Amino acid sequence: MSDKYISLVNGGVTGNLAKKLGLPRPSVLRRQVTGAPLVTGPVLVLGGTVGSGKDADAVAQILVSGELGDALDVRRSADGASSVRWGAVVVVLSEAVHPDDLSAPVRELGGVLRALAPGARVVTISRAALADDAPAVAAVRQGIDGIVRSVAKELRGGATGNGIVLTSATDGEVPVTAPSVLGALQFFLSAKSAFVDGQLLTVSSSGGTTPASWDRPLEGRVAVVTGAARGIGAAIATTLARDGAKVVVVDVPAAGESLATVANQIRGTALQLDITAPDAGAKIIDHAVARHGGIDIVVHNAGITRDKLLANMKPETWDSVLAVNIAAQLRINETLLASPAFVDQPRIVSLASTSGIAGNRGQTNYAASKGGVIGMVRATGPLMAATGGVANAVAPGFIETEMTARIPFATREVARRLNSLQQAGLPVDVAEAVAFFASPAAGGINGTVLRVCGQNLVGA
Ligand code: NAD
Repeated sequence: MSDKYISLVNGGVTGNLAKKLGLPRPSVLRRQVTGAPLVTGPVLVLGGTVGSGKDADAVAQILVSGELGDALDVRRSADGASSVRWGAVVVVLSEAVHPDDLSAPVRELGGVLRALAPGARVVTISRAALADDAPAVAAVRQGIDGIVRSVAKELRGGATGNGIVLTSATDGEVPVTAPSVLGALQFFLSAKSAFVDGQLLTVSSSGGTTPASWDRPLEGRVAVVTGAARGIGAAIATTLARDGAKVVVVDVPAAGESLATVANQIRGTALQLDITAPDAGAKIIDHAVARHGGIDIVVHNAGITRDKLLANMKPETWDSVLAVNIAAQLRINETLLASPAFVDQPRIVSLASTSGIAGNRGQTNYAASKGGVIGMVRATGPLMAATGGVANAVAPGFIETEMTARIPFATREVARRLNSLQQAGLPVDVAEAVAFFASPAAGGINGTVLRVCGQNLVGA
């Protein structure tokens, strides 16, 4: 479950050999360490000149102020800063109304791409292209998506490029200073988004709040994580506990021993339960309320694969995957949404997969269930809005776990490299995205899916 190739190509002698042979040379990614700086160098905020780009000035002001945790060294121009290694470039394009408006800021971005620090971040902030926009406005807005996805493919040294897209909300246009814009910006700038690349995250309301502490955003919250005995689920439970939540870990009785180990490590409680049981939702709520006094966050992580070409698929192979990966989640959510215990800005975060987006040979059953998860959160989110709740999905690409360790070596090696970061993600990378969606700062992001896939080229 580890990628020895990364350490080889980053070693002295073996690294030089890999360079001479023209082999892919993935970088060691910057990952979250409590207390480490948010970014690795000064931040350049582009978009209008000072005074003429109101949104860019507002974002620059927030970054300087320390509102995102660290008071950052922010510049509004790269002029005269030829020796600077930039920790991040934030390109604020929310006021662009015609594709002509892109030329100056994007050329400025191009001018500093060779001066990025390792693990640097490029983040755009723009508005969604809507059908009732003037054609030129929709053109520039949609064009920005293309820029983000292309720049992400050009970055090296573990740097990533992502975008925050603001859409119109019932309560008016979402401002660039909305809590979830700041939350998404903090996430994309930080090491928490190490394996998120080339992605656009939509903020659809001014809901949510920025946390009192960015290190403990889940203080006072009770979270349930299914499938938490190992792999991604165990990492999610550990990350939510790190962020301050009390955590209930759920898994099948057969995994009871490792489940208890995870629960002990994070001072949480264990609930042995098959999530396909008809009363699983009620059991989860009862346990969380009895042991921790409430239930605020549910992470549907438990999932299985039973890969077969559709021509060879047996009914039970199809049915078992759909039963665990989607039907159980739908049933549990129905119980949650009817419960008076799940009404304080609740959060549902579901594990989808890039297979549910791009499809994958041998995985019609799995892709149906994971595509199903994406549809489910889109329709569940609005049902939670009245209580300040949101439902979102995280779609991992290729992650180093026992699930992917079973893939034959050659297929696994190819799958690992076919993304912009040329490596697989780690369970913690998925866990960080889940923790962000579970946080108060994600209250304005609802019904969406975020890929944690290093911008992979095919379905995982
Ligand atoms: P894993 O197989 O290592 O762990 C899954 C856990 O879910 C296990 O502990 C298992 O016992 C538990 N589980 C299965 N059925 C259950 C049931 N009926 N009730 C309760 N618990 C049950 O898997 P993983 O790689 O850690 O994946 C976690 C999630 O992420 C899954 O939903 C998976 O589909 C998704 N995912 C993983 C990858 C990847 O690359 N590993 C990629 C995309 C999506």
